[in-house]
Formats: sequence, C-alpha cells, structure tokens
Amino acid sequence: MREIVRVTRTVVVRSCRLPRKVFRVFIELEGMYRNMVEQLVMYAVRNNITSFTRLKALKYRELRGLYPHLPSHYTYTVCQDAVTRAKSFLRLKKRGLTEREYPEVRSVSIWLDDHLWKIDGLTSIEVATHKGRLSIDLVLHKQYWRYVSRGWRLASEARIRLDRRNRQLIVYLIFVKDVEVYKSRGYLPVDVNENNVTILIDGYAYILETGMEKLVLGYYYRRRRVQERYDKLYGTKSRAKRKVLRKLKERERKRDIKWKIANIVVRVAYVRQYAVVLEKLGRNPANNMIKRIEDDQLRHRIFQASFKGIQKAIEEKAREYGVPVVYVDPKNTSKQCPIHRAPIKYGNSSRIGRCSKGGELWHRDVTACWNILLRALRGDGSNAPSPVGLYVDVSRMPFGTKATHDPTGIPRSLWARWKSLEETLRNPEVMEMTL
Ligand SMILES: [Zn+2]
Repeated sequence: MREIVRVTRTVVVRSCRLPRKVFRVFIELEGMYRNMVEQLVMYAVRNNITSFTRLKALKYRELRGLYPHLPSHYTYTVCQDAVTRAKSFLRLKKRGLTEREYPEVRSVSIWLDDHLWKIDGLTSIEVATHKGRLSIDLVLHKQYWRYVSRGWRLASEARIRLDRRNRQLIVYLIFVKDVEVYKSRGYLPVDVNENNVTILIDGYAYILETGMEKLVLGYYYRRRRVQERYDKLYGTKSRAKRKVLRKLKERERKRDIKWKIANIVVRVAYVRQYAVVLEKLGRNPANNMIKRIEDDQLRHRIFQASFKGIQKAIEEKAREYGVPVVYVDPKNTSKQCPIHRAPIKYGNSSRIGRCSKGGELWHRDVTACWNILLRALRGDGSNAPSPVGLYVDVSRMPFGTKATHDPTGIPRSLWARWKSLEETLRNPEVMEMTL
C-alpha cells in the first residue's frame, strides 16, 4: 500500500507599493478584523471555547451585525483565528506559563479563505474587502517560482499583513504538495539532545553538535540583562528595549540551526532510502537532563529549541522527501547497554560510561542511538517495516572497536557550512578528527 502525505510550505511575498487610497482600505479592513478578533478571543477564553464550529454558531449573527458591509466569510476566518489564539493561550495558562487573564492580540494578520481571495494570473491576487474586490500586484521572487514550477499548488487559504512604512501588503501564500513515502530499506536512528544530534549510519555514530542549551541559556541571560537595564531607564515598554532585543536575533539563530540539522539528517536517510527513527517525545521533558533546570519557562524554551523544535523540523523535512519516520519509546535509551541489557554506569556528569556486565565503554548518545535502532528493529510501538541488510544479530555489531564510545564529533562551525553530511565529512578538518 502506498502512503501519501501532504506537505505544506508558507511562502512570503510582498505586494507592490500601493496607492494611498487602496492602502487605506486595508488599514480599515485590518481595524475591523482586529476588533473582531479581540472580542472573540476574550469571549472564547472566558467561556473556554476551543471549537471553531461552536464559536461561529454563537457569534456569527453578532459579528455580521457589527460590520454588515464586510464580506461574510471574514466571520469564518476571524473565528478560526480567534479559536487558534484562544487555544494556545488556554494551553499556556494550563501549564502555568502565563499570568495574564486574557491573551494580548498584538500583531494581526488577516486570514483569508477561498471566498476572500484568489490568485489572478500568476503575478497578482484579488482580495475581497468592504470596498469591493481589489486587485493587488505582487513582487515575486525566485523561491516563489521554484514552488510554482516544482509541482506545488496553492492552498485555498492565505494571510495578509500590513507594512505601513512601505505601504505594502505582506502576503503569506501556502503551497501544498502530496508526496509518496518510500518503503524503507533500513533505519537511521536519531538521538536529539540539548547540545547535539547524534545519528548512527550503518554502525557508525556521528555527533552533530548544536550547542542549543548553551545558546538558549546565553540568550536568556543576555535578554534579562537588557531587560533590567532598559526597564530601569525607560520603563517596561520602551521601544529602545524592543529594538535591542530584536537585534539579538535569537529566533533566527535557532531556526537556522534547526533547519540545517534537519536537512543533513533527512538527506542521509533519503540517499540510503532509510527510515528516520526518533524517540517519541512527551509533552514534558520529564526523563531528560534538563530536569535540573528549575525555571519553568526556561526549561520550556530549551525543550522547544533542542528537542521538540529539532524533531519537528526533521519530521517536516522527512515528509517533504517522502522519508518514513518511525517512533520508539524513549525510556532509558541511554542507560541500558544495547548488548548485555545491563545498566551502564556513568561517572559524575560524564558522557562516557561503562557497562556493568561486559565492562565495555559507551558514549551516552551513541548508546541512545543503538537502543533507538534496536527498538525500531523490534517494532516497538510502531508499524516498522522489516529490516533488510541491517544488524539484527547484536553480536555482529561492530562493538569492541572504538565505535561504542568514540563517535565522530562534528562541531557546529563545520557542519553548518555544508549542505550534506557527505560534504562535511569530505572536509579535511573532519577527516583529521575521524582518523
Ligand atoms: Zn554491555
């Protein structure tokens, strides 16, 4: 049976600079939209409503009465927008990650459905407003054309945001593609940590260092210093502070690392037609080492940046390439010897431990990879395909060599420069480390 998955990608394009009169219509539209979203989010949070259908049923009439000249489908998209905001706020609230009563509707993008916009030729869009349908020319770029020419099609939804300074619309187009997932010929176990991503390729472990924990912690303290300094000088809501915080580029750095890692991992699997094997992550990083961080928000951020974020990026990339993803139980993957099934004793904060039965040495992240692989082979909690050409017989694994405790470590400064692991490994600096 063939498995098909749907992949979506958001592509951001800008409109041409709009005439004042036209732009004013969008400012009015945004005002009405924002007002509706604010009211609805308050209402939804107060009444604990997280269903779009329910919210729409309760509020449709009222919203139509509020702005009768607005195309009726804005009521639908506003409800969707509001429910999404309410949901994520209620989730944060439940986890104690916010002290606010209601979510703040800070930035607004106007959600459009297939009744509210359409593509007009390939270079402009038409948007329904309270002043009729307006045609907007787009400034298109290479990325857009790449999607158009490579078999992606446009989804029926889109979003727009206003850039007041340049009198432009920022249009978020969503491209969709159906990809066939191949039948895997083997497994690529992936262990995601706070500080690295370890992969095991046919018995050889590679540690791609990300330094995510350090990065998040570093930004956290820098952020706090900036906040304290500027709050004292200008009060808590200063523009200067926001500007400095933005300059830190925390989000961009993390995003960059995440996608580069995902690309490397997925390419390794794809060229071998392997499935990617990941640990099934819970909502809370209970088993992980970041338990030692007491600050709830900080722990959440490290979890998102280094575990969930990287995993999600790998899943997303895998889908795009049709690479199957298999999940295994994450329990004790780094604590048990994959050969003897005996506990591995790690010294104080050491990443290298000794098997309590066989006495051989193990690197923590390599151990995790082997156990992830073994669980995939046993088909724990997944519909794993049967293994072909892999080490099913544990005794034939290339142990006894340095492979169990001496993986090839690749610092971020190296892998980040290359598109694939093969290219990275061809780099003389890495070659030296491997030898
Ligand atoms: Zn052992």
